[in-house]
Amino acid sequence: MESKSFNDAIYRRILAMSQRVQEAQEADLYYYNQAVSELRGGARVLVQGREMGMFASYSYLGLVGHPRINAAAKAAIDRFGTGTHGVRTLAGTLTIHRQLEERIAQFKQTEAAVTFTSGYVTNLTVVSTMVGREDYVLSDKLNHASIVDGCLMSGAKFLRFRHNDMEALETRLQQIPDGSAKLVVADAVFSMDGDIIDLPKMVGLCRKYNAWLMIDEAHSVGVLGKFGRGIEEHFGLEGSVDIKMGTLSKTIPSVGGYVAGNRDLVEYLRHASRAYIFSAALPPAQAAAACEAFQVILDEPWRIQKLRHNADLFISGLKQRGFDTMLTETAIVPVLCGEDETAYQVTQYAQKNDVFVLPVVSPAVPVGLARLRATVTAAHEPEEIEHAMNIIEKAGRSVGIISSNND
Ligand SMILES: *Cc1c(COP(=O)(O)O)cnc(C)c1O
Repeated sequence: MESKSFNDAIYRRILAMSQRVQEAQEADLYYYNQAVSELRGGARVLVQGREMGMFASYSYLGLVGHPRINAAAKAAIDRFGTGTHGVRTLAGTLTIHRQLEERIAQFKQTEAAVTFTSGYVTNLTVVSTMVGREDYVLSDKLNHASIVDGCLMSGAKFLRFRHNDMEALETRLQQIPDGSAKLVVADAVFSMDGDIIDLPKMVGLCRKYNAWLMIDEAHSVGVLGKFGRGIEEHFGLEGSVDIKMGTLSKTIPSVGGYVAGNRDLVEYLRHASRAYIFSAALPPAQAAAACEAFQVILDEPWRIQKLRHNADLFISGLKQRGFDTMLTETAIVPVLCGEDETAYQVTQYAQKNDVFVLPVVSPAVPVGLARLRATVTAAHEPEEIEHAMNIIEKAGRSVGIISSNND
């Protein structure tokens, strides 16, 4: 920066950020972008030369590194190379893309599916293709940033409702003039809190008020439902969500995003969504990995049982130790710390003891609700979870978020 002579608002913003980063680094409280150098099997990873138990992974079913998935990716490279020929609509559509989309549709029990290169891009492009200036989009206040950005980008009238509050949603729906097109969007499982959207009531309201329903399943695929099919399977409401969006970067150990739904919707997105038309397709290896992963989920249902067991163990164990885990019912487990500083201290203690957890602080969550956002996966063994909880307990006592003689 020194060589430039800028001294404007942009420059000051950049400087303010670099000062914040530097202060955190000097205080040894900088947990941004720590590099994992190796997978060590199970839920263990190598970070800065130390083997740690991974409690911040979204690989909920422990599929990262699965031999069948790795083999599928390698075979796709041998067959197709590492890239595509550009955008899907020109030469970029490969048979592996078609196979993946068919597999997703099958898994999600829909007529069709379409993929994009990330979950983030999927939300941007899908929301902004579905609604525009004359329309309304209604979004839960805790929805993921990519949904919020999609709503803003769409130009539609953007109404937010209180988190998971169906009365608030209904009040909003009543404010919309008759005959207007409306889209309701929510996460299935909320990424900071781990709680589950009240789908039955939401579906009822969408029917009553003639609104489209889009659900982001980033944290529900592989996690909810007997076979890991997600939120509809969890509630026994198959076919109730119009636009089933998901990512290929969490439970599915690849990268990309998708929408599953009826054939007309999917064809519409292929012809009208800008991220599909103007951006390149998924690389073959990643498409093949994702395709194989959906099959592995169906072939190895024990992973879903184990994840559920591990999540119950983790949540109940933390509660017994006196922690507030908020409303989570899933594998995302917030451990409420309060002040940002406290969350940093607990993280520091845990990481020094080889438990890899991360803090979430403002502005990602409201001031005073800073937390660890810990996750468990099917790759953890119960003893590893007990060990991690014991470490977190010691940390919690030393900073005073749980009392030292809690029983
Ligand atoms: C991670 C996430 C996304 C973005 O997915 P990427 O594939 O990482 O771009 C979208 N929505 C939710 C709820 C997420 O947690």
